Amino acid sequence: MTRTLVWVEHDGASIKDATLSAVTAAAQLGEVHALVAGHNIDGVADEAARITGVARVLKAEGAAYAHGLPENIAPLIAGLLADHDAFLAPATTTGKNIAPRVAALMDVAQISEILSVEGPKTFTRPIYAGNAIATVESSDARLVITVRGTAFAKADPTGGEAPVESVAGPGDAGLSSYQGADIAKNERPELTSAKIVVSGGRALKDAETFAATITPLADRLGAAIGASRAAVDAGYVPNDYQVGQTGKIVAPQVYIAIGISGAIQHLAGMKDSKTIIAINKDEDAPIFQIADIGLVADLFTAVPELAAKV
Ligand SMILES: Cc1cc2nc3c(=O)[nH]c(=O)nc-3n(C[C@H](O)[C@H](O)[C@H](O)COP(=O)(O)OP(=O)(O)OC[C@H]3O[C@@H](n4cnc5c(N)ncnc54)[C@H](O)[C@@H]3O)c2cc1C
Repeated sequence: MTRTLVWVEHDGASIKDATLSAVTAAAQLGEVHALVAGHNIDGVADEAARITGVARVLKAEGAAYAHGLPENIAPLIAGLLADHDAFLAPATTTGKNIAPRVAALMDVAQISEILSVEGPKTFTRPIYAGNAIATVESSDARLVITVRGTAFAKADPTGGEAPVESVAGPGDAGLSSYQGADIAKNERPELTSAKIVVSGGRALKDAETFAATITPLADRLGAAIGASRAAVDAGYVPNDYQVGQTGKIVAPQVYIAIGISGAIQHLAGMKDSKTIIAINKDEDAPIFQIADIGLVADLFTAVPELAAKV
């Protein structure tokens, strides 16, 4: 039976949702072992043990693993792969920082952002910014995979009772050190796991107009806020708001695109949303081709009206 090792992404206190999708993907390959690495991580390891589908939790405790430095984590994982057939990480910023290093250490080809498991070594994954889906079969002895979170249901975070075992790794590789983190505080739902996303584009003019127009609607809906790259590049919002090929991939129940034209690179990040609503004054805007509900209107009239009505 295939033994899979899943990277548990956490912030030292709780597990990030994207891990749960990676567990679902890993369970389709075989027995799931969850790797929790960090410092003072007993609580996180216990949380991982409760995820349905996890058969074992491997806990790598140590200061070297405290801040997820990939230079220290990748050799730990490569060592553990002696007893595993596959390593899966969520295709998050952190997962994408670790997995390629593991692949390089193992001298195998990484399979990125899988959308489905078709067989023991066969997967689908997007290419050309999601415009085509490739079916790929690995010929490597061990698999290194990143998992697109929106493509797999989240494993139940409760119900499991996996044993927790301590594992040791090579520790500090001496290549990098943690200097500190400047973390943006956001009271809103996380963009990649929110049920509703309200996104604004270049049409929002500037940071003040963006906030004054988009925020009231998002507040009313309890939604996360996203943006096109044009809006990010123009400084309306920070770049972790960006949705798209070079931003975040989202698939909420409802995605509201406001003053966004629908460039292919933006669609790559949101076209799997369950219901897409677009507000644009140009009836020929490409966003209307994928929108379930389209409103041809000036957003500066339509959005405040909408916010007042919901
Ligand atoms: C390699 C590469 C990667 C990229 N990655 C990304 C990515 O990850 N995410 C991303 O978003 N883009 C990405 N882009 C950029 C992408 O090609 C587009 O340039 C960008 O998405 C356009 O943003 P926009 O829709 O906000 O702006 P525009 O294309 O300028 O569209 C603005 C829209 O607002 C409408 N509008 C204007 N005024 C009003 C009004 N008053 N009321 C209603 N509607 C109005 C206009 O009709 C227009 O449709 C990438 C590009 C490249 C080359």
